[in-house]
Amino acid sequence: MSKIIAEGLVRLYTEQSQHVVVVKVFETKEDMHDHYSKLTGKIEERDVVAYTTGKDWGLQDGFGPANEILLVDGSIDLRLIVHECTHAANDIYLVDYVKPKDEATKHYARDQEPIAYLMGDLVVAILGLLKDLNVKVSMKNLNL
Ligand SMILES: [Zn+2]
Repeated sequence: MSKIIAEGLVRLYTEQSQHVVVVKVFETKEDMHDHYSKLTGKIEERDVVAYTTGKDWGLQDGFGPANEILLVDGSIDLRLIVHECTHAANDIYLVDYVKPKDEATKHYARDQEPIAYLMGDLVVAILGLLKDLNVKVSMKNLNL
């Protein structure tokens, strides 16, 4: 039984529709992988510490109801959150704005890693640069 230590959801309202992104935090990597395998029928690399699942399955099976962002306690940082949010945002964008059968859509839905890594690295780098420049970044919308 995979152990989830925290779980919640956020709702996003786009011009097209409403989307739900579920976040589940697991106690261990093994717990997260068990959950992922049950959910998707896939077995992925065991050293991965996060997944975003959901909307991209729709290109094969009909669109799923929500994205799930799966995280492991103790392995969560800004770069990872931005990376996984990029996957969720891409999937939502595809559902809202792109025809699912299109070849480019299939490619983009399955090969989001380059853009997700770029977004994680870029956000962390820009925040680091702004800090070095003594530019204050408001945390107002983060509710931290
Ligand atoms: Zn990724």
